[in-house]
Amino acid sequence: MSKFIRVKCNKCNNEQILFEKLSTNVDCLVCNEKLAQSTGGKAKILGTILK
Ligand SMILES: [Zn+2]
Repeated sequence: MSKFIRVKCNKCNNEQILFEKLSTNVDCLVCNEKLAQSTGGKAKILGTILK
């Protein structure tokens, strides 16, 4: 089961919902800053994780 996480872009403060596990990198939809990196397992989150 995958968990969802809310990540805030450090560059433009846009918030996006991401899967904890990613098969591809995720970019910010607004400014294209990289928000999360696929590692084959748990994603490496590059933005700010919100609770
Ligand atoms: Zn952004």
